[in-house]
Amino acid sequence: MLEQIRNTHPLVYQHFSALPDGERHLRSILSIDRYWENLDLPVPDVIRDGSRLPAGTRIDEECDILYAGGTLGLLHAAVMTRKYGRRVLVIDRAEPGRTTRDWNISRGELLRLADSGVFTQAELDSTIVRTYKTGWVEFHAPAAKRKRLFMDEVLDCAVDADRLLGMARDKVLAGGGSQVLGHASFVCCYRFPDHLVVHVEEPSGKPRYFRAQVLVDAMGIVSPVAMQLNQGRPQTHVCPTVGTIASGFDNADFEVGEILASTEDAEVSGKRGRQLIWEGFPAKGDEYITYLFFYDKVDSPNDKTLLGLFEAYFRKLPEYKKPGANFTIHRPVYGIIPAYFHDGAGCTRAVSSERITLLGDAASLASPLTFCGFGSVVRNLDRMTSGLDKAMRENKLGEADLARISAYEPNVATMANLMKYMCYDPESDEPGFVNEMMNEVMIVLDELPQHYRQVMFRDEMKVEELVTVMLKVAWRYPKILKATWDKLGVGGSVGFVKNLAGWAMNQASK
Ligand SMILES: Cc1cc2nc3c(=O)[nH]c(=O)nc-3n(C[C@H](O)[C@H](O)[C@H](O)COP(=O)(O)OP(=O)(O)OC[C@H]3O[C@@H](n4cnc5c(N)ncnc54)[C@H](O)[C@@H]3O)c2cc1C
Repeated sequence: MLEQIRNTHPLVYQHFSALPDGERHLRSILSIDRYWENLDLPVPDVIRDGSRLPAGTRIDEECDILYAGGTLGLLHAAVMTRKYGRRVLVIDRAEPGRTTRDWNISRGELLRLADSGVFTQAELDSTIVRTYKTGWVEFHAPAAKRKRLFMDEVLDCAVDADRLLGMARDKVLAGGGSQVLGHASFVCCYRFPDHLVVHVEEPSGKPRYFRAQVLVDAMGIVSPVAMQLNQGRPQTHVCPTVGTIASGFDNADFEVGEILASTEDAEVSGKRGRQLIWEGFPAKGDEYITYLFFYDKVDSPNDKTLLGLFEAYFRKLPEYKKPGANFTIHRPVYGIIPAYFHDGAGCTRAVSSERITLLGDAASLASPLTFCGFGSVVRNLDRMTSGLDKAMRENKLGEADLARISAYEPNVATMANLMKYMCYDPESDEPGFVNEMMNEVMIVLDELPQHYRQVMFRDEMKVEELVTVMLKVAWRYPKILKATWDKLGVGGSVGFVKNLAGWAMNQASK
């Protein structure tokens, strides 16, 4: 497979060929990139009425909850097994508990996983491989206009994701009768009044059928369930992200996290254009993680493939961090971070259906602005798991019942609008627009108490705090008003106001 990209993506070819499992990663990248082709295919038909189950189908096994997807699905499954005594089955088409990324989060947020009583503080602390003194955000501009904004306790802990997920897997397996199956793909499910039958396929093509009370869809951005429930348009915006965990940079500071950093203005070519942004996070030992990404609309004409972005990553990396003589890549990290614009005062995306609930990136309820899909599940895990247990006990498993226990948060939905300003649009923006605007936002945040930037980058902002920031930015930088018109238009602005109203009402009702 690597040979096929030798001429089209020479730098990816060169670096991936040197990795022991470069071929596996390339296959995984291409399978995520199929997301774009899938958007043009007919809407999948994976949630079927029970009457369509082929006659004579033999049920292999039964469980209370079947999780399709063994990344964040494992965290939820561990709590449902250990705290609520549910018999679960976690399936993953790849290796469950082995993710294609690592996670940053603050320690205070991570320790919220201990609220469930399933993970201890000591266990959680053991997954933190490095803590930084501070972190910063800085956008490209002439020195006089550039504002490096420092913030503490934001994404300042590097978590060994596979270690945390391995712990969760062990907890699932320790719960009597629960199972974790790798290399088992979700194909479809058949819905009956009091249960589901889930069709799973082994790599040999052998089908297996499992009876479950509830299906948790944790298949990430490529979820066919999310695609069907949202009529083939499960996201409105995306943030394609690639990078590596490597060692041997000449200029990496291991005490500081680089939360957002741009090194140039937007790349423009005809009707295409994107503002590339870097992140740099020290990890364990001498390892350092660098990411390259951009925010975009799902329907923009840009090349949004991870393969194409990886080629740009290898070409541009020396402009951000200088690989030294002993530079070594340990593994690539990648994914498409999803986003959804809710056009209303509450959640307007389908995140559930009868006996089916969506979790993590499949639900697309995190804010892409802050990169914190893992953080969103951590914040909401206790509420989601206790809610699902109650719904199962009371047999209230309808679409609306399950939607109420999703990770939807009105503040996060509103904040996700800000991502639209970060999507470079060649029709309306100067190439330096995103950098110029973000420097103004950084100046405003620098003048406010540190609390504002912390809650903004941890998705914990209150409505009055966001309004304060927005008004101060508009006062300092009136160009933002035209940008609002260009980027949101009438429909988007009304939607933003509806989001704000829903958030304010929700806050008032607490
Ligand atoms: C590069 C990168 C860095 C990130 N860094 C951070 C961070 O620092 N902090 C943070 O909070 N968030 C971060 N995020 C976001 C976070 O990683 C995601 O929100 C999170 O991984 C989503 O987990 P998930 O389980 O929902 O989906 P995924 O991670 O996409 O996992 C989906 C799983 O489903 C499986 N699957 C797919 N299809 C099928 C099928 N048909 N049958 C069976 N299994 C299937 C896949 O193999 C996979 O294991 C980052 C994301 C990326 C891309």
